[in-house]
Amino acid sequence: MEGTMILRGGRVIDPVNGLDEVRDVVIVDGRVAAEAAPGAPVVDVAGLVVCPGFIDLHVHLREPGQTHKEDIASGTQAAAAGGFTTVVAMPNTNPPVDRPEILEQVLSAARERACVRVLQTGALSQGRAGKALSDARALAAAGAVALTDDGTCLQDAGLMLEAVRRAAEVGLPVIDHCEDDSVARHGAMNAGDFAQRLGVSGQPGLAEDLVVCRNILICRETGWPIHIQHISTAFSVAMVRAAQRHGLPVTAEASPHHLCLTEACCVLHGPNAKMNPPLRTEADRQAVVAGVADGTIGVIATDHAPHATEEKAAGMERAPAGIVGLEAAVALCLTELVHGGSMALPDVVARFTRGPREVLHLEAGTLTPGAAADVTLLDPSAQHVLHPTQFYSRSRNCPYEGRLCRGRVAGTIVDGAWVYSRLPGIAGRLR
Ligand SMILES: [Zn+2]
Repeated sequence: MEGTMILRGGRVIDPVNGLDEVRDVVIVDGRVAAEAAPGAPVVDVAGLVVCPGFIDLHVHLREPGQTHKEDIASGTQAAAAGGFTTVVAMPNTNPPVDRPEILEQVLSAARERACVRVLQTGALSQGRAGKALSDARALAAAGAVALTDDGTCLQDAGLMLEAVRRAAEVGLPVIDHCEDDSVARHGAMNAGDFAQRLGVSGQPGLAEDLVVCRNILICRETGWPIHIQHISTAFSVAMVRAAQRHGLPVTAEASPHHLCLTEACCVLHGPNAKMNPPLRTEADRQAVVAGVADGTIGVIATDHAPHATEEKAAGMERAPAGIVGLEAAVALCLTELVHGGSMALPDVVARFTRGPREVLHLEAGTLTPGAAADVTLLDPSAQHVLHPTQFYSRSRNCPYEGRLCRGRVAGTIVDGAWVYSRLPGIAGRLR
């Protein structure tokens, strides 16, 4: 009976099918089914929310080359514990994923050691150096799901235009980390009063806004979709909203930290609140929340970026940017967005399922009969405290220790098998 069960009596939310009702979810041989198999085990999930497996469009698994920070095994365990059944890995590894051989190597390692689905992006430019384009056709043939230079941004507008045209030829979405280097100047936090008071170099929101506007114009020129990664400023949200009203296929994601935290967090947490784009002002945060709430921003993605403790100890200017996010994202979003009153639960579920599914044209993200049985279960009101020391991730860099949350992941099922479970009597693969 592996991969066969009935999840009984939960509140089932499947935004792709417009479903929000108490009903059973039937799984037969690892797939969602319309009819139960005779004698299938019944799991009582009354009081829980049953969703399609969550998809994270933006994670750094650090393999190959930086496995002291994370690897495919630890990163996908963190994903499963965080409720994600599919993760999309960024190509800024060492070496970067800019050739089909490297991409195949990652996918092969994932087949051996991942406990959730791993999709891999390819680099837009060779070596992510922004000088010459990668071979989009070869990367597509090897299984890349999108092209991006994430971690850096392709600065040359003409080269970006050419990159988007080539991506269009091979049918790959382009996703972009928007940052104008000549304006950002590697600033370690948001430019403004907080940076001045702390004596830390700042990068203004203008660095992001310039490239978001450039990308909207390239999207208008090519007609090809561009997805804006980790949007962080009020102006960028307004520009994406305007572009969508003009019918342009521009999409965007927001990271939980930009929804929940502001630049003030740097005062207390220093390098563990350093990320790129940086935490912004309260007005920016509210605009990003409003963008996620009204659907301008269709995706919540973690930008899970593990770094070793000693690397983060280098101080604000020299520490690498980024925080771990996989195991806090859902709890933070339920707490801040749903219990905070800015969004209804089904809309938050949609940002983790239907939104990312649509950006990358994935089969995942729905409980339609016939779909692979990837399921995320939520305990929507459980009170708990975040303790990063207990994370499955190999790294601890984040400002969340001791943060009180309401709502958490209760279980994660991939292909009809429990990978992570907090349900009494149900053992997940992780514990
Ligand atoms: Zn990025």
